[in-house]
Amino acid sequence: MSRSLLAIHAHPDDEASKGAATVARYVDEGVRAVLVTATGGEAGDVLNPEMDRHDVIANLTQVRADELAAAAEIIGFEKVTMLGYRDSGMPESDSNGHPEAFCHQPFDDVLGKLVGIVRNERPDVVLGYDAHEFYPHPDHLRVHELTMALVDAAADGSKFPDLGAPWQITKLYAPVFTTDRITALHQAMLDTAGESPFELWIDRMGTFEDPERRVTKVDVTGFVELGREALRAHRTQVDPAGFWFAVPTELVESVYPWEDFELLYSAVGWSEGESSLFDGM
Ligand SMILES: [Zn+2]
Repeated sequence: MSRSLLAIHAHPDDEASKGAATVARYVDEGVRAVLVTATGGEAGDVLNPEMDRHDVIANLTQVRADELAAAAEIIGFEKVTMLGYRDSGMPESDSNGHPEAFCHQPFDDVLGKLVGIVRNERPDVVLGYDAHEFYPHPDHLRVHELTMALVDAAADGSKFPDLGAPWQITKLYAPVFTTDRITALHQAMLDTAGESPFELWIDRMGTFEDPERRVTKVDVTGFVELGREALRAHRTQVDPAGFWFAVPTELVESVYPWEDFELLYSAVGWSEGESSLFDGM
């Protein structure tokens, strides 16, 4: 039986920076993967000096949609749905006060769109976000709240009855950065390069990490570079010489060849040491 996965993200580039290698691996194994991106990323700054040009900035919405399409193709998503909301930016920013800002849209309107997509695509696994205290972007928090409500709403025929037959999502996961991961990469960089880009992360990480959370580690050996290629396709958003690429791919695969996912819901239970998002199905 073919399996399927639906990833729900806030902005173009989140699909490439969170769990991309894992999705690429599953697609390679025959899983059907589809992507929903809530906003156009209109509030993102151009972070690559080479792309900080007038012609790019004047067409940023289209440029970011094109970058998303390119990244999704590299990862192997079969379909990309942009919900069309506006990037809410950080609190207090001009974007956050915009009437079309994603985080201010009526909750049930957005939930209904997601329920329609789930009932149509019938995914086994949904990827959303954790409670996101480490990076509290309003759009990320909103995706977390929506995906938590989505599991019940999609399965309950009395909710959104016009949007198709109820569908039970088997598992909801959030890609997460764990202290395990950051510590391993930090130490490897100190050992090999004498300095580490994670210096500032190390102290903050643990304070946000719930020791009780259920984490599944997915082996992405052989897929790390593909994930990075997808991230580089977001040319306005990532500096190819920047933070995301500071640790060489071979070093990542030798010291921490996994991506980590926090389990937020499971209809089939969970056991310590699970190594696949599809375990138990
Ligand atoms: Zn984002």
